[in-house]
Amino acid sequence: MAKESVDYSKYFTAPNLKKARKRYREDVQVLDFEQIPEDMRNIGNGQSYLIKTYGCQMNEHDTETIAGILNQMGYTATEDENEADVILFNTCAIRENAEDKVFGELGRLKPLKLEKPDLILGVCGCMSQEEAVVNRILHKYPHVDLIFGTHNIHRVPYLLKEALFSKEMVVEVWSKEGDVVENMPKARSNKLKAWVNIMYGCDKFCTYCIVPYTRGKERSRLPHDVLGEVRELARLGYREVTLLGQNVNAYGKDFKDMDYRFAHLMDDIRKIDIPRVRFTTSHPRDFDDHLIDVLAKGGNLVEHIHLPVQSGNSRVLKRMARKYTRDEYLTLVDKIKKAMPHAVLTTDIIVGFPGETDEEFEDTLSLVREVEFDSAFTFIYSPREGTPSAKWEDNIPHEVKKERLHRLNELQDSISRRKNEQLRGQVVEVLVEGESKKNREVLSGRTRSNKLVNFPGPRDLVGQLVNVRITEPQTWTLKGELVPEERVEAL
Ligand code: SF4
Repeated sequence: MAKESVDYSKYFTAPNLKKARKRYREDVQVLDFEQIPEDMRNIGNGQSYLIKTYGCQMNEHDTETIAGILNQMGYTATEDENEADVILFNTCAIRENAEDKVFGELGRLKPLKLEKPDLILGVCGCMSQEEAVVNRILHKYPHVDLIFGTHNIHRVPYLLKEALFSKEMVVEVWSKEGDVVENMPKARSNKLKAWVNIMYGCDKFCTYCIVPYTRGKERSRLPHDVLGEVRELARLGYREVTLLGQNVNAYGKDFKDMDYRFAHLMDDIRKIDIPRVRFTTSHPRDFDDHLIDVLAKGGNLVEHIHLPVQSGNSRVLKRMARKYTRDEYLTLVDKIKKAMPHAVLTTDIIVGFPGETDEEFEDTLSLVREVEFDSAFTFIYSPREGTPSAKWEDNIPHEVKKERLHRLNELQDSISRRKNEQLRGQVVEVLVEGESKKNREVLSGRTRSNKLVNFPGPRDLVGQLVNVRITEPQTWTLKGELVPEERVEAL
């Protein structure tokens, strides 16, 4: 049933954007996850949980951590919301429609909560870090039992216990910048590919982005903790790791007592016996020559670099506070291509940023033509409450934004198609991930450059690296045939 109406201010430090902007590099502590207390270890025996995850890989990975904690408390996972005793929404704040979906879901589940008063309904993730969201849930969705923020995941056992026994909504959202908590349990959802956080937060404060406020300041995990986790994953037989951070190449900038940056970390991970290492996402501003030199060594460091550009026009980039110009971005791309001729570049682009003129948008198209990205995530600008650009007039009509997006996508699709066509007849290394969703006779996997390949083959190849000749390149995927003995010629 709905929780009683109370004054929640005593339970949490409300997210505060002003404070977030004034943060400085102090007080980051590396903490060890405490064992689940005795009285909470079996609290979930015979009960199940369902976590609905929205947004980026960081959130997916946080869900693995929350699931790991719940498993240690005796809960088991379920896909069926009617069966679940705990339903958590691990939310994304990057776009307003992602938030609307969650509010829609919370409304939809109200009858279930009325029917099953013992059901625990919780909201966590980036939305919980927003003051306006927390207030809206407090006032309009009183059937929610639990809200916790991105810095509070290690507190799940205590929060859940409190929610189980309290008559009030339990809210714990720390506005502080967050610590680094090591050794949290993880229920990894994939047995071949694993995510490894190397750092948290972001200090870039791009003017359109809510992340620096929801995820706190940049703080890096210590090298031996990251390397230890990657070694352990290698020992367990994982074939691929993806190093995660909002801005991975700012890694180590916050270390006060050592000069150890992302390039050093990659160079050390290169020596670990795991076939593939990826990273996401990088910021052009922090992409230094040392990193390019290390990536050019290849080996298990794959040739795929996701390098969000956002716009091809320097004035727009300045208004976005991206901290690089068009020319600087192109110079960086040039350096990468020279050092790594096989590099596959992908990007993110926003169209219709406030004040973007037709000419400025044309600069984005010309940059896309010049760089020739293999693929791009393209978005129409929409303001996020609490960010600087949300205060500016969103003066590009929606029709114009849509038309720009359409032109950009058409251009990018033609480039993607042409790039994939270059692979026709070539043999690529594929990590076989499973059966194709559309046809169980067909296996699917990814190249080192992260392109999806479908090809007929026996199921026992799942988990292996095999050679596949590309026979039918398409715009977003590749079709091929197995070439067991042949040498890999392309990436
Ligand atoms: S670099 Fe910019 S876009 Fe990326 S998370 Fe940080 S503020 Fe957001």
